[in-house]
Amino acid sequence: MRDIAIIGGGASGLVAAITAARLGSNVTIFERQNRIGKKILVTGNGRCNMTNLNIKPEYFHTSSQKGCFAPLAKKDVETVLAFFNELGIERLVEKTKVYPASEQASSILDVMRMEIERLGITVKVDTKVIGLKYKENKWQVETETGETEVFDRVIVSTGGMAAPALGCDHSGYNLLKKLGHSEIETFPTIVHIVSPTKYCKMMKGMRFKAEVSIFVENELKRIERGEVLFTEDGLSGPPIFLLSRVASESFKDRKACKIHFDLMPDWTKEDLVAKIYERLANGSSKSIEDLFVGWLNKRAIMAVIKEANIGSPVAPCENLDYEMIERLAECMKCIVFKVEGTRGFKFAQSTAGGICIDEIDLETMASKKAPNLYVTGEVLDVDGDCGGYNLQWAWSTGLIAGEAAATV
Ligand SMILES: Cc1cc2nc3c(=O)[nH]c(=O)nc-3n(C[C@H](O)[C@H](O)[C@H](O)COP(=O)(O)OP(=O)(O)OC[C@H]3O[C@@H](n4cnc5c(N)ncnc54)[C@H](O)[C@@H]3O)c2cc1C
Repeated sequence: MRDIAIIGGGASGLVAAITAARLGSNVTIFERQNRIGKKILVTGNGRCNMTNLNIKPEYFHTSSQKGCFAPLAKKDVETVLAFFNELGIERLVEKTKVYPASEQASSILDVMRMEIERLGITVKVDTKVIGLKYKENKWQVETETGETEVFDRVIVSTGGMAAPALGCDHSGYNLLKKLGHSEIETFPTIVHIVSPTKYCKMMKGMRFKAEVSIFVENELKRIERGEVLFTEDGLSGPPIFLLSRVASESFKDRKACKIHFDLMPDWTKEDLVAKIYERLANGSSKSIEDLFVGWLNKRAIMAVIKEANIGSPVAPCENLDYEMIERLAECMKCIVFKVEGTRGFKFAQSTAGGICIDEIDLETMASKKAPNLYVTGEVLDVDGDCGGYNLQWAWSTGLIAGEAAATV
């Protein structure tokens, strides 16, 4: 019987532990927090967007030339859903996003805890691993409490840098770097974007269905549609999360970055000009701001009028000339938000960068630098888009590593 240590009792580590124990291994989980799986509980706003039925390579990011799709193809969405279904999780599908039918992230952790108990897996909480040494074909796992235990195989599942309050620090990267692995520079992703543009404050608390495009040094990088949330210091919401990787990377590289905000993505500028004229014909006695009431959100109207630089919003709308109307239409199609970084790892949902995956055999998740050592999840240089992709990466790599550590 093999003795296997799992360093980190998060999403990928728990799946790896269950898989290895089912295959007959004697498994011990080391978790530095007082409970396993704390991060799972907050995923998907407490509902756990556990995966996505639409898995494609373009939704995952890595700096490796070889890409990172092999583990996602080997242990695909249906394999993951079957794993959880066997534990009791029924699926709820919203568009392509998958949640547990209970809509409780705690269900995902609960069923794994029950299985961990049933399999007799040892769980050591409040136990941070600070050293890994390979001696005489065995791994010595050193903990912060000064103890050393010996194992045949080790799986490092220590997670990334995002949301440090939920247990992640840099210790996992350091353990692996001491064994010869290299780290691709990390930066936060799936995170609020910080912007000094005055309209953020003006529209604070407002949600607006829009199209947002991100430019780095004037080159268009990505376009997304959806509900944007304005905050005191910037922009948030699902489409912004999808742009945040580009924003965060450009901030890291000190490159100029901006977001174009299109309030009326289904309209052309010409359509908008025609509509403004139509409304003018019906309401020529109104003020400029009142001309838009019932068509646009009031605070958005103020931002558009300010950005168009056409004078006072309470001026009579009959003062509007063709040039001003064109400018209003232009601003409805594009308000520019300067990007000044993100809210950082503290508020991020995932980590871009990490341990280089060219140093990992993606068929087994085994390290190419150290024997009988496996690496899973977010600590690796792979991150997915918002939408269940990061957990899919965690589950897929956990299943593969658990199986390989127990059998190969
Ligand atoms: C707020 C929030 C919401 C999210 N929502 C979603 C979502 O809906 N869908 C989605 O796909 N993804 C989501 N994610 C991302 C997803 O949770 C992570 O990508 C995933 O949990 C990573 O799994 P992991 O096993 O690599 O690491 P983690 O789940 O982070 O687990 C790592 C564990 O290792 C422990 N650890 C670290 N170092 C040591 C050490 N030295 N010794 C012992 N233990 C250690 C940590 O305490 C932690 O418990 C969200 C993330 C956040 C922060």
